[in-house]
Order: sequence, then C-alpha cells, then structure tokens
Amino acid sequence: MRASHYFISTLKEAPSDAEVTSQKLMLRAGLIKKTAAGIYSWMPMGLKALRKVENIVREEMNRAGAIEVLMPAVQPAELWEESGRATHYGPELLRFKDRHDRDFVIGPTHEEVITDIARRDIRSYKQLPKHFYQVQTKFRDEIRPRFGVMRGREFLMKDGYSFHSSFDDLVREYHNMYATYTRIFTRIGLEFRAVAADTGSIGGTGSHEFHVIADTGEDDIAYCPDSDYAANVELAEALPISTVHGVASEALPISTVHGVASEALTKIHTPGVKTIAELAAFLNIPETQTVKAIVVESDGEVAQAVLMLLRGDHELNEIKAQNLEGIKSPLTFATPEAIAAAFGANPGSLGPVGFTGRVIMDRSVAAMSDFVIGANEDDYHYTGANTGRDFPGPEIADLRNVVAGDPSPDGKGTLALCRGIEVGHIFQLRTKYAEAMGARFLDENGREQAMEMGCYGIGVSRILGAAIEQNNDERGIIWPTAIAPFQLVICPVGWSKSDAVREAAQALYTELSEAGVDVILDDRNERPGVMFADWELIGVPHRVVIGDRGLKEGSAEYQGRRDASATAVPIAELAAFVH
Ligand code: ATP
Ligand code: MG
Ligand code: MG
Ligand code: MG
Repeated sequence: MRASHYFISTLKEAPSDAEVTSQKLMLRAGLIKKTAAGIYSWMPMGLKALRKVENIVREEMNRAGAIEVLMPAVQPAELWEESGRATHYGPELLRFKDRHDRDFVIGPTHEEVITDIARRDIRSYKQLPKHFYQVQTKFRDEIRPRFGVMRGREFLMKDGYSFHSSFDDLVREYHNMYATYTRIFTRIGLEFRAVAADTGSIGGTGSHEFHVIADTGEDDIAYCPDSDYAANVELAEALPISTVHGVASEALPISTVHGVASEALTKIHTPGVKTIAELAAFLNIPETQTVKAIVVESDGEVAQAVLMLLRGDHELNEIKAQNLEGIKSPLTFATPEAIAAAFGANPGSLGPVGFTGRVIMDRSVAAMSDFVIGANEDDYHYTGANTGRDFPGPEIADLRNVVAGDPSPDGKGTLALCRGIEVGHIFQLRTKYAEAMGARFLDENGREQAMEMGCYGIGVSRILGAAIEQNNDERGIIWPTAIAPFQLVICPVGWSKSDAVREAAQALYTELSEAGVDVILDDRNERPGVMFADWELIGVPHRVVIGDRGLKEGSAEYQGRRDASATAVPIAELAAFVH
C-alpha cells in the first residue's frame, strides 16, 4: 500500500469526551470516527486491524470444527417471547415495529435465532453435534456507552452456538472452546486470563470469561498466582451466598440435602429407586454418562458426598455407607483412584480429581453441571443442584469483600486482585433454550430429547481497544504484530528530491510485499518528523527509514516501535530482520 493512495487522518489532540487511553489513541490515529454515542465508523486503518482480529478468530474457529453462518441483525420479537427473554432482557434490547406494526428487535445476541434454526433442521442424534458461529454486528442499548469501541452500543461479536445429544458431549465442546479461546488470544498477542464467571442474562450453568488484564478494565478479577484459580468478583454477588454456607455447615450424610435453600432445586419422587442404574433410567440420563462425585469436608470430617450424572449398578445405600466409613480425611481423595475406590466406581469413569482443604471434587465437571443429588427422604431426589450455589466448590467463593492476600478458595496460596476487560465468554446453556423453544431430537432409542447447548462469544471490536490498553506509550499505539494494520512502514527521506531514495524505497517495498510482509510506503513527501509522529501514533511495529546518507553504505535505519533508537541495517538484510 502507498500512503498517498490510502486514507491517513491523524489528530494532535483527542476529543475532550474521550476517557481512556485506547479510545483517545484510536480517535487520534484515525482508526475510528464517532458517529453517535456508542456508535462508530471504522476507518480504513482501523478496519484493517479489525479484520486481522476477525481472521484469527475465524481461522481458529474453523480449525476447532465450528461452521460459519451469518444470521440477521433484525430478529422477530416473537422468538424472544418464546424463549422468555423478552421480559428479562430489559432496556439493553432495542425494540421497534415495522410498517405492519409487527414487533422486532436488533439482536444483542442470537440464541433464539439459532435455536429456531436447529429445531427446524435437526431431527436426529445422527446430525449432532453441530457448532455454528458467525462474526456479526450486535446492538445493545448500553446504559453508559463509553471507552470507545470497548463498550459500544453497536459492536462486532463472534458468537458461536453448539448443539449436542448429551451433556458429556457439550462438556467436550466446552473444553474444546476453552482451548480455542486460549489459542486465539495467545495468537493475537494479549496478556489474558480465563476466570470463572456468572452466566448473566444468557442463563445456564458452567461459564468462563476471558479477560485482558488492564487497569482500565471494568471488572475486578481475583486470582491465585500459585495456581490456576481465577474468578470474576461479580460472580459472588450474583450468587445467594447464604445457601453456599448453608450446606457445608451441616454435617450431613450422603443422600441428604436438607438445609439447601435454593429454590432452583426440583424435588422429584423416585419411588423404588435403589441403584444408580435405576436412578439413571428413571431420570432418562443416557447410560453413557459417567459417575461423578463431590465430597465436601467440614472440620476435618467428610460432611457430605453428592452423587450425580450416574452410571453403573452401585447401590445408592452402599455408596452412602462407604462414604461414611471409608472417608475420614480429604487426603484420602488426592487421586482419582482413591475417590473411585471409595465410591466403588471404575477409576476410568471419573474425570481429573482436584481437592483442597475444604472441598474435594471432580472440578472439571462439578463446576459446570446441573446435578442430581439425593434427598433426606427415601424415594426422593433433587435435580438442578449447582456447585457454589447449593454446595461449595473451589470455583465459586464469596469474593465480595476480598482483599489482596486473602487465602485462595482452592487452598493453594493467597489471592491477588487485578482489573480485567472481558473479551470472551463461554457458557454451558444446557437445555434452557431447547426446552423453552422445543428444539428436540430423536436419540438412538427413538426417544425425543431436548438438545444440550453451549454458546461462545468474543468481543471482536472490543479486542482492539483492549490490545491498545495493554500496548501503548506517550507517542501512541504499539500494535501486537499479528493485528497491526500494517506490519512495517517504509519512510523515505527526500522522496521527491532523490532518485536513489525513491528507487531504493520502491525496490524494498516490492521485495517485502512479495515476501508476504504487510507493508506501507509513505510516499506523501512529508518531513521526517511528521512521518515518524504519524506512524508512531498509528503504532506500526516496524519502521525502515531510507535516506541518501545510508544508501551510500547500502544501509537503511531500522527501528522497532518499542526500540529507543534506530540501527543501521544493510538493505539486503532487512527482510530477514523484520520477521
Ligand atoms: P460486559 O460484561 O462487558 O457488559 P457481557 O457479559 O454483557 O459484557 P456477553 O453477553 O458475554 O457480554 O457477550 C460476549 C462478548 O461480547 C463479551 O465478552 C464482550 O467481549 C463483547 N461485548 C459485550 N458487550 C459489548 C459492548 N457493549 N461493546 C463491545 N463489546 C461488547
Ligand atoms: Mg453487558
Ligand atoms: Mg460480563
Ligand atoms: Mg459476558
């Protein structure tokens, strides 16, 4: 690209209403223009960076097996009535009527539209699993749009939705997305952290957010530097904490959830059910699902074990007895084998077991599931139990008044606090939308079942602001190379005066372009100071200055955006130097 053909419009000062660094720099560098509150136009230079983020996201989603679609921005309000969110979503949902007086919304997210597609097109377990995603413009009428593209009203999101014939398969895809998001944010070049999260208005159970660490972040993150514990502090506020403590404080045997205050639990009559296999059959849980166990220890004694997602023919009472006799210390359960032995289960059927001083559990699943748990009456069980809400779990703790140095809930060290910008969010929706909207399929046995669903969002446009919050200095933006609008700029000194400079600059431009470097040649015939200030503000990671003096020695001046000064580099070696 030649700068004279491009559109470069930098500003000396940021508009006075710009609050944070990334917003000021994006406006000054001419990447975006404000059209209305929370509504921006993407200028060529900004759009180029945005597309780079989008392409990384798209490549990794495709690699992970998701399939791209594009859904409409405008959605019929009936779909939102059907899911029940028309009333719950609140004023962030922009509603309007068409000329026929029909109600519509502009999509803030697309669970309803995709579930409507799935219920019409997916009939059989043979068509599952499927993961559809899109990169699409969303609208949320944010009460306080601010920080430029970081909290816009109109913004670009990657949103994916997966459909499954079993919960196990949803968990598999959830882990797949966790790994995919980790790859995406690593490739982009962000310093980020995955944290346990609340599920907000989207609903469902298991959830993680991916946060870019930055002081200007709107979320408080508590994390343990010595382990992988990390949680959004707002998570605790979303939970009825009293119920979390309600269970642990009562030393109750397995099969007992007496004292659980949660109204979300559903008590079900399970007459004559004596074994796990019978319970699984009664609840219509596919037999392929695994045995999982949670053991909660209180004051050095195991207080409660909770059984869920069951398989096998173990006597429920037998497990209860084994639990009470065999389990005295949490250390007994340091391994999957130990926990499996205590429950008479096949070790292979248990996932990785983590434990802390207080809680021992199969963390990978326990934190994400709607569990089946026993009741304190014969012939009754509860469904819909939830780690953290109905019993304690290491992923969820009361963090409301947390200060740095408090013990980490996983018992592995002390907590540190930081601010984060939420750039990604993954959820296990379970059957919430499928049940509300009738998205069912026929399983192997010809029985109708609701589809298990997951959803996965990335704030594509927000990432640009977040990346700049992490990478800037007093001169401007410092782009991570993977998402820089251009990787390298060639600044010729004396473009109109020196044939040698012009020829050398053009030759280098051609050579680098052919080598696959995304390069821009500044042929605007500006003074060096003007050129340098522009490119430093725009944040191009590599700069090469070509002038008559260096050319005599066959060299050019190279300066990386973070370098304090320039280095003379032989022109022939430049291509290798910038990679
Ligand atoms: P926040 O907590 O910041 O309001 P959210 O939890 O409401 O975000 P989600 O519903 O999880 O957002 O949407 C998925 C992703 O979309 C978020 O992780 C975030 O990166 C991005 N996003 C959400 N709201 C905005 C916004 N107003 N402007 C830009 N990006 C946004
Ligand atoms: Mg929000
Ligand atoms: Mg959020
Ligand atoms: Mg979120």
